Amino acid sequence: MRSTASIRLSCSALATNSTPQRCLLRRIRTQQGAAAQELQLIRQERDALQRERDLLMHQVTMLHTMHQTTQQQMLHEMQHRDDRLLEAPRQPAAAPVVPASRATPQRRGADLKASGQAFDSTRHVLGRLCPRAHEYQGTGQSLQRLPSHVCFACDAAHTRERRKAKRGGAQ
Ligand SMILES: [Zn+2]
Repeated sequence: MRSTASIRLSCSALATNSTPQRCLLRRIRTQQGAAAQELQLIRQERDALQRERDLLMHQVTMLHTMHQTTQQQMLHEMQHRDDRLLEAPRQPAAAPVVPASRATPQRRGADLKASGQAFDSTRHVLGRLCPRAHEYQGTGQSLQRLPSHVCFACDAAHTRERRKAKRGGAQ
């Protein structure tokens, strides 16, 4: 009896007063619309973030390249400066270096006998061709001393020049 009455009541409510349903529908539609808008906003935000990420990645790549270029330029300039310093006619600045080269005459002698060709991976590395273009065995690269990365052949030549200059200065 009670259930019949309640069904009848809800039916009459459906028939006579549909406002709650419409209201609910409208609310659902509004929520759907809001959700769709929100989704669109999120998508736009995602796209913007992706663009930003791409830009940042691009900047990182550029900075990385710049960093490498700067390092290479610095190395190059250092080598040039070393060359200029060592080739300068005034030699007093080179005087303190001579005892150091004298300290290891046998090792240097052995290196020179091998004409800089004895490759020892713990002490040498192949690098950018030096300003004097001392190429190592047709590799297009110069043999460099570690850890200074100074061209092996240039270093040997500098040592010879320093010795010659010192002998010349002593006489
Ligand atoms: Zn060289």
